[in-house]
Amino acid sequence: MVSNLYKFRFSIRVLFIVVSALQTNLTLGQYHNHFYCGHELHMESNEQLYPGYRQRVADYFDFIQEQIKRYPEAARSNETLKIPVVVHIVWKNEEENLSDEMIKSQIDVLNEDFRLLNPNRDSIRSQFKQRQADSGIEFELAMVERVKTNANFNLSLTGLVDNVKRTANGGSKAEDPKKFLNIWVCKIQPIPLIGGQILGYAYPPAGLPNWPDGVAAPSPELDGVVIDFRSFGKNNPHPVVVNGVTLYSEGRTATHEVGHYLGLRHIWGDGGGIFGGLSCNEDDGIADTPNQGRQSPFDCNKTQNTCQDGTDDEPDMIENYMDYSDQLCQCAFTKGQIEHMRMVILTKRSGLLSNSQDIAVSQDKIIIIPNPAGNFITVRHSLHGNNDSVQVKISDMHGRKVYAGMTGSGTVHTLDISGLMQGMYILEITDGDKIVSTRFVRQ
Ligand SMILES: [Zn+2]
Repeated sequence: MVSNLYKFRFSIRVLFIVVSALQTNLTLGQYHNHFYCGHELHMESNEQLYPGYRQRVADYFDFIQEQIKRYPEAARSNETLKIPVVVHIVWKNEEENLSDEMIKSQIDVLNEDFRLLNPNRDSIRSQFKQRQADSGIEFELAMVERVKTNANFNLSLTGLVDNVKRTANGGSKAEDPKKFLNIWVCKIQPIPLIGGQILGYAYPPAGLPNWPDGVAAPSPELDGVVIDFRSFGKNNPHPVVVNGVTLYSEGRTATHEVGHYLGLRHIWGDGGGIFGGLSCNEDDGIADTPNQGRQSPFDCNKTQNTCQDGTDDEPDMIENYMDYSDQLCQCAFTKGQIEHMRMVILTKRSGLLSNSQDIAVSQDKIIIIPNPAGNFITVRHSLHGNNDSVQVKISDMHGRKVYAGMTGSGTVHTLDISGLMQGMYILEITDGDKIVSTRFVRQ
């Protein structure tokens, strides 16, 4: 009864927001209301489902800022922090089943943007140049899971599309969210009859004392990022089109959402709500970003200055990935944002680093990620067989062979072990000359 009441109140509130948006549509520009990130809807949805959620996210933000003051060397270190990524392609129509090349292009964009290797990095205005930096955060594709579905992922008056994360609802179950950044890619459908296109959303880290340690989402298996398939990858062949306006993908919807996943707020601080109201009193909590009163309307206006605070006031930093400026103009995280993201990784999301020592595989070794394993394992080795393929064999602890096959080329392979029962196994690889083996546990 109580939860139904919350749902009812949330429905009324979202309906109010949507009606407000329709009313303000005429004054906010041609397509201002049609594309947005689902961060605020997510926060609102979870606040209704779990009262106090918004405060817990805010408290955790403050905790991170305190940790940066206490341990500035850790936040500013240039040590590389490598995040393994699992991409779930949950598709219904063939065009949604994005190619391996498109997935690779997305990982490349993340690495370019976070390591300040993006080709447009020098387009930042000179007044912001000194704040732009290399985060030292890198992304590595650990696994791709493809699920053909009959489900629709409709935004609704009661929430976002987390059914994409549940196998029973036509989605794809997360790989261990403590150890992997899960990114789900699907077609996010607008709210029926009303519209409104969300390009993506993420679960920010939250201080949730009653939920499992190290997990940001109220339900651990929901933690991660969701991206509409048309906004995923670079030069996506099926860009989002709403009311005749095309939004080409530069791959920076994911850069923006991973920013949220690593604790960043929108650069304008969300004070004016999700539909562009002006508020100069709400800040993003980061010291070196200018005060900005509202989101940019997907354009590239370098004279925009929504909060004029005094004689030394700065324009809005439309080059920032956490704005809604044109993705072609985005090219920077600030040093303050980078310290925040790095400290989130070193604290709340430190499980992501648990595999990093495994990335370089030494001679005659095999690394299996994750271990304990779920339905899939990624095997890394240093052998090179004929034509680069090697023979893989998995045996149970009684010596019975339960899996055998040849790999494709390369030294990293993903194997489907969903048919194995729980227990300990030995995985053996041979290239004809050498045999190497290791143990792993199937959960
Ligand atoms: Zn956002």
